[in-house]
Amino acid sequence: MFAVLNSTAVTGLIGCDLAALQAIVTELGEPKFRAEQLHQWLYVHNRRQFDEMTNLAKSLRDKLAETYRVGVLDIREKQVSQDGTVKYLFGLPDGSSVESVLMYFEERDVYAVCLSTQVGCAVNCDFCATGKLGFKRHLTPGEIVEQFQFIRYDSNVEVRNVVLMGQGEPLLNYESVMAAIYLLNKSCEIGMRHITLSTSGIVPAIDRLADEQLQLTLAISLHAPDNETREKIMPLNKKYPLEVLIPSLHRYVDKTGRRVTIEYILLAGVNDTTAHAHKLTALLKNLHCNINLIPYNPIGEEYNYQRPTRDAVYAFQHALMAGPQKVTVRIERGTDIAAACGQLQNKVIA
Ligand code: SAH
Ligand code: SF4
Repeated sequence: MFAVLNSTAVTGLIGCDLAALQAIVTELGEPKFRAEQLHQWLYVHNRRQFDEMTNLAKSLRDKLAETYRVGVLDIREKQVSQDGTVKYLFGLPDGSSVESVLMYFEERDVYAVCLSTQVGCAVNCDFCATGKLGFKRHLTPGEIVEQFQFIRYDSNVEVRNVVLMGQGEPLLNYESVMAAIYLLNKSCEIGMRHITLSTSGIVPAIDRLADEQLQLTLAISLHAPDNETREKIMPLNKKYPLEVLIPSLHRYVDKTGRRVTIEYILLAGVNDTTAHAHKLTALLKNLHCNINLIPYNPIGEEYNYQRPTRDAVYAFQHALMAGPQKVTVRIERGTDIAAACGQLQNKVIA
């Protein structure tokens, strides 16, 4: 067996773990320890040119450059919000694109990056701009990790938190997302507790993730306290209704010992009454979780949802406080550049 290397293909090294890099340098006739140096340059020093990797021999740098590139993404567009949030539109080798967001949280003085896991999304939640794109394809582990590396490189800030909450449903791209999480943790040195994965509730994959016993934070897009309301806004609820989803969250907490985050979008007149809040308290009884309320971010006038008033948001939060869980309201970032939750739709500004 031998590997056929297609000279016209773009092979990015970001996405390779140490073992894969060892196989590559060995194939190039170099000693294995070179892979460790390469690994450091790629993930820790975050260099994008082989020529900057100064402790690698020039001959090796040339050999690498003949067949490989550090990464495969290019910045197609970058927009900066009034609040400092930066949205990136990255071009992929097949011509498609994804969006990622850099956010700064002043009160905690931390930067976080929101990464995409798929081009488009098949889950088709009715309130989400990404859902309106339909599903195009899964991202590879390299394409997921490179969004993070490219943003660090471009912004030159230290990013400590990663949220897998951009475009796509991470648990429908399970293997690649897991490989990306391990790379972010082991190679880019992001603490597992600083990684959050948000899912619309793919029950078999939640069970699979529970078995991995990771210290990351699992966030669940619940968005409604009863099947009738949830089905209207999330067609996925027909496949995994609440009586199936909620027990899977209890299993997750039992297996990992980690509290989950319940995300609840607030859509005026749809799921934001006090009665909904009380039902939610009952549904989440005994679940070890925090609740995060997300006032709807508009995705276009043609869609029938409204953001609730500030008073309605606080009334909902107040009603939930009767329960034992901590309830926060998500501080939205970058609404003026359509970078907030649910607004990512790969639009190039003309
Ligand atoms: N597919 C995953 C992760 C990406 S969506 C998931 O659904 O969880 C990230 C979060 O943004 C989810 O909680 C999603 O429900 C929420 N969201 C989607 N559209 C939104 C919108 N228009 N306004 C506010 N939040 C939205
Ligand atoms: Fe997909 Fe999440 Fe958007 Fe639903 S909210 S369509 S799961 S990206």
